Amino acid sequence: MTQNQDLFARSSRVIPGGVNSPVRAFKSVGGTPAFMADASGPYLTDAEGTRYVDLVCSWGPALLGHKHPAVIEAVHRAVDRGLSFGASTEAETQLAELVVDRMNATLPGAIEQIRMVSTGTEATMTAIRLARGYTGRDKIIKFSGCYHGHVDALLSEAGSGLATLSLPGSAGVTAATAAETIVLPYNDPEAVRAAFEAHPGQIAAIITEAAPCNMGVVTPAEGFNAFLRKITQEQGALLIFDEVLTGFRVSSAGYWGYAAPSEGGWVPDIFTFGKVIGGGMPMAALGGKRQIMEYLAPLGPVYQAGTLSGNPVAMAAGLATLQAADASVYETIDARSVQLQEALTQALTAQGVDHSIQRAGNLFSVSFGTAERGVHNYQDVKESETFRYNAFFHSMLTDGVYLPPSAFEAWFLSAAHDDQAMEKIFAALPAAARAAAEAQEA
Ligand SMILES: *Cc1c(COP(=O)(O)O)cnc(C)c1O
Repeated sequence: MTQNQDLFARSSRVIPGGVNSPVRAFKSVGGTPAFMADASGPYLTDAEGTRYVDLVCSWGPALLGHKHPAVIEAVHRAVDRGLSFGASTEAETQLAELVVDRMNATLPGAIEQIRMVSTGTEATMTAIRLARGYTGRDKIIKFSGCYHGHVDALLSEAGSGLATLSLPGSAGVTAATAAETIVLPYNDPEAVRAAFEAHPGQIAAIITEAAPCNMGVVTPAEGFNAFLRKITQEQGALLIFDEVLTGFRVSSAGYWGYAAPSEGGWVPDIFTFGKVIGGGMPMAALGGKRQIMEYLAPLGPVYQAGTLSGNPVAMAAGLATLQAADASVYETIDARSVQLQEALTQALTAQGVDHSIQRAGNLFSVSFGTAERGVHNYQDVKESETFRYNAFFHSMLTDGVYLPPSAFEAWFLSAAHDDQAMEKIFAALPAAARAAAEAQEA
């Protein structure tokens, strides 16, 4: 037994499926998951001492690369002052100010107040409760293939880990809860219009990923987000942009900061953030206009709380990460992303592999067998040749590149991905493309 196999056998005895988050289990790609021991810059090192170029980046937070000196130092300083106080600290206000200023610099009026929580799931759960409290309505629209965390009301056709495991939703969600969620195909304005007609005055909000990245990446059709803004305004519903994954990663003001300038500059009512905002610590947030945010307790009737919310160590990691994430960080990641997409397409084309690449700024994913029809929604993704991804993934892993262990996830780069790391990825691509070409449907 290898060290990884031994660790997985042990964890599988005491942890369901051996993992604390399902997609880590390699269930769809097959094989034994690597157990990680160290991470530095663009690299992960597993328990056997094998070093990989990391294209997961902790599913987003490692924007600067792993163990960035400024982040580690800030965390050390915070730890020395104490781990948790159960009372307010200045760092929470500093991070709130930074997020408000940073978002409004690109998207004027986007955010006046934010509330810190510990996970993206809490952020979206609070956002929909807030939307319901604010509008006095019950129903929520979500799109199939969009993932908003493991909130009961948002688990239908939720992409990401559920897609990886081929689950339509989750057991344990009551029919009454599911009935309050209207699940619609992405990029389909007619379906949205029909839902508002079928449920007049009952829809509290539309929640959507500003650009879906949890069914792989799906680029929003031109004008689709603007249509959502218009119809929610006409119908008295709120528009929630879930930027837990894209926030502070696609640009200094997230995906919407990247796309809005060419779409008229309007903003949604509520944003949710996670991943990058915590710099690798458990931390997430929701933000929006004061008028809406002040519906939250202690000012308003919508209750929300958290023992570790605004945790000082997490605040330090988030602050240091955002302070270091200047224009050059985004320029580097954007450039690396373009390079990698070009090399990927070149390698796949050389092996005659039918594929297409979907993009949301510097985030992208590849899907197989989709060159002609493209990928516009969850149905398209599910019909793609995911078996080719599994062969591709394992070839890359063998050659020292750690990709997301699922065809339904975006690829993540960091500002620490230097020439040496990129060369290692490029060198691994031809064999992986061949593996994808030769893969047979199971
Ligand atoms: C990761 C993610 C979440 C959930 O965040 P957790 O911190 O895992 O709870 C919610 N929404 C989107 C878009 C995400 O990518």
